[in-house]
Amino acid sequence: MRTMKKLFKLLFTFLFLALVVLLIVFAFKTFSFNSKQLASIEPIEKINLDAACTNRFVSSIQVPTLSYADRIDTLAFEQLDSLFQKNYPMLYARMYMRPINEFSHIYRWKGRDPSLLPILLIGHTDVVPIENEEAWEEKPFSGVQKDGYIWGRGTLDDKINVVGLLEAATLLMQEEFAPRRDVYFAFGHDEEVGGKNGAVAMAQFFKEQGIQFEFVLDEGLVVLKEALDGLEPPLAMIGIAEKGFANLQLSIDLEAGGHSSMPPANTAIGMLASAVAALSDEPFPSRIDGATQGLLEYAGPEMDFFKKVLFANLWATEGLIKNSLAKDATSAALVQTTTAPTIFNSGIKDNVLPSQASATINFRILPGETVASVRDRVEKVIDNPAVKIAVDENFSSNPSPVSSTSSFGFRVLQKTLQETYPETIIAPGLVIAATDSRQYAHVANDVYRFTPVCIARDDIGRIHGNNERISVDNYHDAIRFYKRLIENAAK
Ligand SMILES: [Zn+2]
Repeated sequence: MRTMKKLFKLLFTFLFLALVVLLIVFAFKTFSFNSKQLASIEPIEKINLDAACTNRFVSSIQVPTLSYADRIDTLAFEQLDSLFQKNYPMLYARMYMRPINEFSHIYRWKGRDPSLLPILLIGHTDVVPIENEEAWEEKPFSGVQKDGYIWGRGTLDDKINVVGLLEAATLLMQEEFAPRRDVYFAFGHDEEVGGKNGAVAMAQFFKEQGIQFEFVLDEGLVVLKEALDGLEPPLAMIGIAEKGFANLQLSIDLEAGGHSSMPPANTAIGMLASAVAALSDEPFPSRIDGATQGLLEYAGPEMDFFKKVLFANLWATEGLIKNSLAKDATSAALVQTTTAPTIFNSGIKDNVLPSQASATINFRILPGETVASVRDRVEKVIDNPAVKIAVDENFSSNPSPVSSTSSFGFRVLQKTLQETYPETIIAPGLVIAATDSRQYAHVANDVYRFTPVCIARDDIGRIHGNNERISVDNYHDAIRFYKRLIENAAK
């Protein structure tokens, strides 16, 4: 009895000590979870931009440069091109411009020091079609200005970046700024339909010319208000990686279907439905690494105490955080390869068993996995040789590499953001949609994705959706951001 008591006492002391050690480690990790925001960066002043500057943006929105998969509205793209030449004469006089496949354009602003690697700032001039014009408060190509907003398709995606850069370069030229390194712009005209004639061709041109860039900046993440629970200031996220994507076609082709009055145990529809259900039941494993780990490391120290403790102690809390992120569709996309069954086809008549069934599953692939590894896992999970799996090569792309957060490019972006959006927290992040930037991976080690606009969560749906608009303040801030970025990168 006494030995039992002693044993319990010993066990209790041990547990107590273990708890104390655990608490000390938690506390140490939390208090050494230091801010990664740059110290002593002074905000820069606003620039006075006149109505003419706003009108130049409006006039570009009024040109309906819509992207279609099977044709190109040459008139609209020609119109936008002449509009730019009319609006930015100084830029066209001082920058060398080269059209690629007629409607995409590369601009080169020659630097003073040829030993420095150039930088490349990209955007796209095409916009997605309008699904339901009736649902728009203002006509999508009206460029109406109302309550401090400019309305129209392309205001956020992506004419803000293209016009923002043209305006910024013009302002710098008016100040007789001469860049130290070459500054390139590349504006594609078919990003929304895959970028084959634009970004792919332009990246190929740079490769053939042997041009490597210090860094590339494309559209991407934004400054988001109320981005994370427990983080007060808006969050400016610089996309350091982009998910890949793949469509897999699953199909069953039985020798015979049969009559529905004598159905066999395995029907084409039944087997394919089981395969799709198996994929939904076994989601891809969640991971916190790369860009999403970077996000937690940069945003974590700025969050409320409870969140800070959680994010400072990923060694113990990772499972918990992963599970809670994986539960919500928006955040799940950041920690796992997602599985979305998008098409299911089978059957022609209500009393005939079909011999064929097919389904399309759309995957968005987390960096670290590949189209091939996704296919392999799908095969394993379905575990039925009757289900044929084919990768749609026209709609598949591996995830991008993860760009550095200690590079010249990231530091310049971080400094510029702190100067121009002083009330925000800056962090790396993962882009879950596809941008043109993936085409440039072979001409730069570091590719970043950021659109300088400060918006709320609800506004994200306006991109590719109804009522796309941007505040005039946001437009002016974007010009200021690009002007400062070019100064910081090429001074
Ligand atoms: Zn875009």
